Amino acid sequence: MVDLIIIGAGPYGISLAAHAEAQGLSYDLLGEPMRFWSSKMPQNMFIRTNPRFISLSDPADKWTIDRFGLETGTELISPFPRPSFVEYAFWFARKTGIAFTPELVSRIDYVDSAYAVMTNSGNRYWGANAVVATGLQHFSYTPETFSSLPASLVSHTFGQTEFTRFRGRKVAVVGSGQSAWETAALLHMAGSEAELLFRGEEVQFAGEDNTSSGLKLIESSEQFYGLPLEQKRERWNTPRKGSVALFLKPYVDGKVKATGNASIEHAEVIAGGQVRLTLSGGDKRVVDHVLCATGYRINLDKLPFIGRALLEAIDREEGYPHFPLLSERFESSVPGLYFAGPLASHTHGPAFGFVAGLRQACRSIIPHIRQTQEQSKRRGV
Ligand SMILES: Cc1cc2nc3c(=O)[nH]c(=O)nc-3n(C[C@H](O)[C@H](O)[C@H](O)COP(=O)(O)OP(=O)(O)OC[C@H]3O[C@@H](n4cnc5c(N)ncnc54)[C@H](O)[C@@H]3O)c2cc1C
Repeated sequence: MVDLIIIGAGPYGISLAAHAEAQGLSYDLLGEPMRFWSSKMPQNMFIRTNPRFISLSDPADKWTIDRFGLETGTELISPFPRPSFVEYAFWFARKTGIAFTPELVSRIDYVDSAYAVMTNSGNRYWGANAVVATGLQHFSYTPETFSSLPASLVSHTFGQTEFTRFRGRKVAVVGSGQSAWETAALLHMAGSEAELLFRGEEVQFAGEDNTSSGLKLIESSEQFYGLPLEQKRERWNTPRKGSVALFLKPYVDGKVKATGNASIEHAEVIAGGQVRLTLSGGDKRVVDHVLCATGYRINLDKLPFIGRALLEAIDREEGYPHFPLLSERFESSVPGLYFAGPLASHTHGPAFGFVAGLRQACRSIIPHIRQTQEQSKRRGV
């Protein structure tokens, strides 16, 4: 039985393990290291966030991305290439001396005041506490309109790593956020004929300075939880306005067709195995594939590995039943069960959908676990 089981070995899981290691807590870090960033993202994409704000976290703030840059001679340019971020994460893991257990969690249950975890290798692990840090993986959202299409004709941008299979084919990219424009650019580079279709009138390209947005996000990771409920409600109920990073502009301008004010009313398979899309104004498009850059809907019930009894025992945010109700320390209503990353983005704010939130998550969760473990050891439990 370890003090802590961490499910998910992405930026949050790795940082949590670094804090646990430094605080002398025993832990199992379950999951393939950096799987999402290394094998579930377009291989030649850039990171939108300024590299100053994508440091992983250790208690002494010693192994920052700036130090990685200095020690390895990696230039911290913006936009930062994805592979360099993955290299940084592995460098960080070596420096902090953390250990990985690269197994996928298939089930977690709460049994006799401890967490019993089963992996797809058939191994069982026990922890006094557990943190779920599995990122966006289970939350990709595809609109109902496309539900009748077979999987060969429609897919979500999550998990797309390269686009050469679309060479010479017509692809409709649905959505207008960063991932839609990035996907359209990568499709064009792969030799595909891409058209962006989106509901809004036009797309907002955000300026080159991504420093202030990074700083704001870090600040909000520390402050959001303590805001008066009224202010939180206002933020929860205001739809977030997406924008597209300016660095993408040269890759799309004059290269990718973009059609705004276009709601897709209907999608059907036609003879020849193509898809016909009917837009709100009656216009039609015939394409070989539809790629939905339609975002993510965070929903606790979509995590496939949480045992039913445990899932039902987790209290939800009032009025927002898809989110767990979390304490200031990110603990759910089930003692010792914590959520870090997107599932904490309701109670603790939008920073937790980004790397920006991980320092605050680690600094809240790990000392709390250490304290409760010391208390239970003193009680002889
Ligand atoms: C296209 C795209 C671009 C992005 N760009 C940025 C950016 O520029 N800046 C930024 O801050 N954020 C960005 N994000 C958000 C990004 O997902 C998070 O910032 C970041 O990955 C958070 O780390 P995480 O550890 O919560 O999640 P992840 O990096 O997703 O790590 C979670 C890990 O858990 C693993 N896992 C899932 N289920 C299980 C299981 N059952 N057992 C074991 N392991 C499991 C996953 O494979 C994954 O490797 C982007 C997201 C997308 C989709």
